[in-house]
Amino acid sequence: MKGRIIRGVGGFYYVYTDEGIYECRARGSFRKEGIKPLVGDDVEISVTSQTDMEGSLDEICERRSVLIRPAVANVDQALVFFACASPEPNLNLLDHFLAYMQQQKLETILCFNKTDLADEAVVRHLREVYAGSGCPILSVSLLRGEGLEELDRYLDGRTTVVAGPSGAGKSSLTNYLQPQAAMEVGEVSRKIGRGRQTTRHTQLVRIRKDTYFLDTPGFSSLELDMPPGELPECYPEFRPYIPKCYFDDCLHHREPDCAVKQAVERGEINRERYGNYLLLLEELSSRRRY
Ligand code: ZN
Repeated sequence: MKGRIIRGVGGFYYVYTDEGIYECRARGSFRKEGIKPLVGDDVEISVTSQTDMEGSLDEICERRSVLIRPAVANVDQALVFFACASPEPNLNLLDHFLAYMQQQKLETILCFNKTDLADEAVVRHLREVYAGSGCPILSVSLLRGEGLEELDRYLDGRTTVVAGPSGAGKSSLTNYLQPQAAMEVGEVSRKIGRGRQTTRHTQLVRIRKDTYFLDTPGFSSLELDMPPGELPECYPEFRPYIPKCYFDDCLHHREPDCAVKQAVERGEINRERYGNYLLLLEELSSRRRY
C-alpha cells in the first residue's frame, strides 16, 4: 500500500494512506543501508494488523528534495508567515528566513497575517520592502477570513513548510487549513501513547489530496550558516547589480565602486532590505566560522 510519512516518533512512522493512518516500523534493511525515513517520504507499506492499523515500512520512493533543518523530504515550497502587527514584524528575523530559503533553493511565499490590526499604510510599506525579494507577497486576516482564497491557490497541490515567529497566528492558520488536522493529530498521539513527548515533533498535515503543509514547532527562529560571501546571492534584488561591482568578491558594504550600494542610493534597491542585509552580513562575519 502506498502512503506518506506524516510523523516519526521513537522509531515509529505514522503513514497516511487512503485507508487511514498506519503506525509502521521501518524494516531493518534501512538501518543496514544507512537510510533514515523522513517525514514527507512517499513510502510503500505492508499491513501487519488491520485491526490495530499497524504496518511495516518496506520501501522509500525516490525523494524530490530533502531539507536538513527541519529534516523533511519532498517539500515544494516555504510559506514565511508573519503578523504585520501585534506583534510588529521583526524584519531582521524575516530576512533570516528568506535568506535561509534562498540558500535551500526553496520557492517562498511571504504572507502577512492580521491585516485587521494594521493600517493599510503598514501593509503597503511591507510590500514595498519585499517587492524585490522574488517572493509573492500575500496579506491576509485569518480572523476576518480575508485574502485566504489567494493563499489557498498558492498552497494547492504542493507540500509547504511553514516558518514564522510565535504570535504570527500559525495555529489559527493550521486550524483554518485543516479543521480535521486536530483530529488526525489526536489519532496519532493516541497511538504514541501516554508519557511520551508528542508536541515537539515535526508533523505533516494533509489539507486534501496532494496538498500538505508541514507544521514545525521549532521553526520560529534560525541561525544562518553560510560564508558571508554567499549572502548577496540570497538577495534576489541585488543580482542584476552584482556583476557591475568593481571587486569580484564585493560584499557591498565598505567597498568602493559598488553597484549594489549605488542602486540603493538611486532607490532601485529598498534601503531597509539593504540595512537588513548589512545586519546579516555582520552576523555571519563576526562568527568567522570560515
Ligand atoms: Zn558591491
